[in-house]
Amino acid sequence: MNTTLKIDITVKDICEGFVYNELEGKGLFGLSGKLTIQPEYQRNYIYASDGGKKEIAVIESLLKGYPIGLIYFNKVSENNLEVLDGQQRITSVGRFVTDKFAIKDENGMEQYFSGMAKDKKTKILEAKLLIYECEGTESEIKEWFRTINIVGVPLNNQELLNAVYSGPFVTLGKEEFSNSQNSNIQKWSAYVSGSANRQDFLERALEWVSKGNIGDYMSSHRFDKNITELKKYFSSVIDWVSSVFIDVESEMRRLEWGRLYETYHKKSYNPKNVSEEVHKLYGDPYVKNRKGIFEFILGGSTDTKLLEVRVFDDATKKSVYKEQTTEAEKKKESNCPLCALGHDANKEKIWSLNDMDADHVTAWSKGGATSAKNCQMLCKTHNRAKGNR
Ligand SMILES: [Zn+2]
Repeated sequence: MNTTLKIDITVKDICEGFVYNELEGKGLFGLSGKLTIQPEYQRNYIYASDGGKKEIAVIESLLKGYPIGLIYFNKVSENNLEVLDGQQRITSVGRFVTDKFAIKDENGMEQYFSGMAKDKKTKILEAKLLIYECEGTESEIKEWFRTINIVGVPLNNQELLNAVYSGPFVTLGKEEFSNSQNSNIQKWSAYVSGSANRQDFLERALEWVSKGNIGDYMSSHRFDKNITELKKYFSSVIDWVSSVFIDVESEMRRLEWGRLYETYHKKSYNPKNVSEEVHKLYGDPYVKNRKGIFEFILGGSTDTKLLEVRVFDDATKKSVYKEQTTEAEKKKESNCPLCALGHDANKEKIWSLNDMDADHVTAWSKGGATSAKNCQMLCKTHNRAKGNR
């Protein structure tokens, strides 16, 4: 792979013929049409999010004469360059000189490029960028792209995979799942966290259909001209969740719905009863892990481990231990009530606090509270034996 350092290209050159596509959220072209700013394997423009702090910082750097970092171009042919790294910075500059956003001046007033003083405009337009032009085979470029350390917002896993397996399948996948204009996004957002721009929906869809082997799946479908299976599977999961659980709770956005779908979608549920149970468990102060509520119900409401039911605190354990032990010493029997019932050597054994564990007299699942009244101390062996009733 050959690289050439260019030091004379100015902001003005780059912004010549700059086009920004509002619908796709992408900077498209520059350098009088020679430069493709966001090729298909690049992520969407994200510097405008979070109130535009990042794109404003790029412009302020230029005004102060600070460098905005190395930029890499891939020389595709004599008259054709693609931005490999730096597309966010270039899009920020292009958007600014075409009046897509404003910065604040010394007096805190909003200022668009077209309304700026001439010397400031010149300072921005004549700023020189440090650009490496690279020439190499597709696989060389992509391998290198995978390993460079990108300044600013690093590419996340899915963005890297999109670059590595770029092709018709990724393009179609992004059209469906990475397009913030897709009207389904609101529905999906109830069950999947993240954003279209950062590829979170595409990543979940791929993860579910591939049972977690995203890379393999993308590799074997790389040149497919349709995403039918991907779309179908994703909607089956979403439709299933939304028909079993008629309520939407925020905890639902981080669950492994793909796995839960595979495990439980053949069982039938009564959505009305499910809803009542969800509400009951949400209102139960002893349920520590609300995320576990959904799988608990899907599995038939038996695996209380999923809920991490609150345990007795140390003060409660100590006071119950003291009371139980005093009583036991009077009666000359073990302070573990179950040992006391037995006929072996432990019948009269007084256990130390460290050798005992707290137990719900009436199990939590049968309505027992986690309070001193419902607490008894058992020796470790007996407590374990009682286990998860
Ligand atoms: Zn015991």
